[in-house]
Amino acid sequence: MWFYEVAPTKIVRSNANTFTYHSNQQLSVGYLVLIPVGKQQLTGLVIKPVSKPAYETKPIDGVIETTALPQSLVELSLWLADYYHTPLATVLQTVLPRGLTKKRRSKEVQPHVSTRNRTTIVLNDDQTEAVKKIMAQPSGTTLLQGVTGSGKTEVYKEITRRTIADGKSVIILVPEIGLTSQVVDEFIHEFNHTIVTHSHMTEAERHLAWQKVLHASEPTVIIGPRSALFMPAYQLGAILVDEAHEPSYKQEQAPRYSALRAAGVLGRAAKARVVLGSATPLITDRYIAETTNSPIVTLPKPARSNATPTTVHVVDMKKREAFKHHRFLSDTLISEIEHNIASGQQTLLFHNRRGSASTTLCENCGWTAECPRCFVPLVLHTDSFSLSCHICDYKTKVPTSCPVCHASQIIHKGIGTKLIESELQRLFPKAKIARFDGDNATHETVNERYTDLYNGTIDIAIGTQVVAKGLDLPKLRTVGIIQADSGLALPDYAASERAFQLIAQVVGRVGRDERATSVVVQSYQPTHPVIQYGVKQDYEGFYSYALSERQKAGFPPFRYLLQLTDVYKSEAAAVRNAQQLSRTLRSRLPRGVEVLGPTPAFYERQHDTYRWQLTLKSPKRDVLVQALDAVPPTHWQSELDPTSLL
Ligand code: ADP
Ligand code: ZN
Ligand code: ZN
Repeated sequence: MWFYEVAPTKIVRSNANTFTYHSNQQLSVGYLVLIPVGKQQLTGLVIKPVSKPAYETKPIDGVIETTALPQSLVELSLWLADYYHTPLATVLQTVLPRGLTKKRRSKEVQPHVSTRNRTTIVLNDDQTEAVKKIMAQPSGTTLLQGVTGSGKTEVYKEITRRTIADGKSVIILVPEIGLTSQVVDEFIHEFNHTIVTHSHMTEAERHLAWQKVLHASEPTVIIGPRSALFMPAYQLGAILVDEAHEPSYKQEQAPRYSALRAAGVLGRAAKARVVLGSATPLITDRYIAETTNSPIVTLPKPARSNATPTTVHVVDMKKREAFKHHRFLSDTLISEIEHNIASGQQTLLFHNRRGSASTTLCENCGWTAECPRCFVPLVLHTDSFSLSCHICDYKTKVPTSCPVCHASQIIHKGIGTKLIESELQRLFPKAKIARFDGDNATHETVNERYTDLYNGTIDIAIGTQVVAKGLDLPKLRTVGIIQADSGLALPDYAASERAFQLIAQVVGRVGRDERATSVVVQSYQPTHPVIQYGVKQDYEGFYSYALSERQKAGFPPFRYLLQLTDVYKSEAAAVRNAQQLSRTLRSRLPRGVEVLGPTPAFYERQHDTYRWQLTLKSPKRDVLVQALDAVPPTHWQSELDPTSLL
């Protein structure tokens, strides 16, 4: 008889992650098994062999998969539960596919059709040197800091070739499948055993892909969003994280993990190389690399030797004489667009707000349209002529008269992507205009539009974050930012970092080859250091500026953060409970830990509830993890290492 600690994939009892079972056959760590729990049968993961306990044990009912999960994945799961103070069962629900006991009928997956022209690429000296430095480290994390267009994809490909030749698998993380499909294309084209995962897969597709990886007896290449990290890769040799600064690498539900930290842990457990690639690494990642003496490998210039520097125009939005033709599209931007349309080239416009207008108000009495549940301004969508709440999705018709004073002077203010689209269509009636934002971005439409964008059938593309990501467009001549400072005013320690990244990444969409290109950045604060560093793509300048700001204000990487938010039906209850917890924490926590608040959350009302929050800052992280024990199990949401305080 053998005895094992098994972790059920459902929470059985709070404060107990594993239970001991016996088996009359010998099992390995990482086996997925069926276990009796009360009257139910649950799926469980074998965590470790133990000696016969003093109490009676129940038997393991059966084995679901005869191939064990890699030991490194078991270690990662235990680490996630511990580091993010999350029940192991919750972690396993994220790590393992759903419906593990279901029989699946496998069907052939649609082959991915590539739209690109390929030429064989010979690595340049910088790329060769980067590969050499990365391979020189047998394991551990390397920061690959390469300017936009420096050819990081080719470096990933070469690392992949060498790792596969060495008999090991590679996991490549991409921010989101969709517009990044270019990277996916490249890999599918070259490597036979590529498995792509994405967030639009059905439960069955996900399970089948996972089984294929688990049962593989040769190295595979796995590409996908952060969850691809949990694919049970055969002999993991490398984890490559593309665009490592992207916010989608942080999961916003429990376990609220950072895929970058998790990749580091998995890499250590599997003795695999980890590469974090970005033109604009997160301040914290760069700081970690420096303070832990991890290699920082740079690609300082565009990969193509004929790359022509781009012409940058910064337009001051306070100077109205620069806006003779339109209230928010500057004369410079309009003339660039005219030139591009006439010469068959493209323009890409970036703006971070969806919808048509962000405030709808009565000019007579000042009434504004707000969500009755969340008390934030409703956003106008002219295509459906409706107002919608961007927090809870409440929708209502635009009123024809003011609900308070009954006047008919209802007006709309503010700029959204739909308004930009309709205004451009008015100015350029013959142009083909496409909008890429959360309002139309299904997986299929994004892929189709991307093909149109690549082929040049779209004249003007407008988008939110999504257009800023790794696109390489042969017909693109101009990129424009409608209001570069719009994210700067947010009360968030990471606001300037995000604004910088966005500007630097958008600017980096052009200037990649011999063609003359231009950038138009419109801003009310054209001299703000973040805007200046962004348009110059000066990462080093921004990094030292931001690091000293963070140090002065006591934010990461100099402090760890824990954000605690309570959610109640009444404001009084939200305030009272936040005050109570703050008193408890202040009395219990060691010196050096700051408890800020209680304050109303940035989005104080959401879905008919009130939210108040406490922010804890500490030079040591484990104190914050311990503080979580004082947080009541209901009505509270907690987030360690929040990437935003909004
Ligand atoms: P990054 O991801 O670093 O922004 P990409 O990997 O998208 O850059 O590469 C930018 C462009 O340069 C791509 O079109 C790519 O095909 C090209 N490229 C990369 N490496 C080379 C090289 N060694 N020689 C010529 N072109 C290259
Ligand atoms: Zn009114
Ligand atoms: Zn709402």
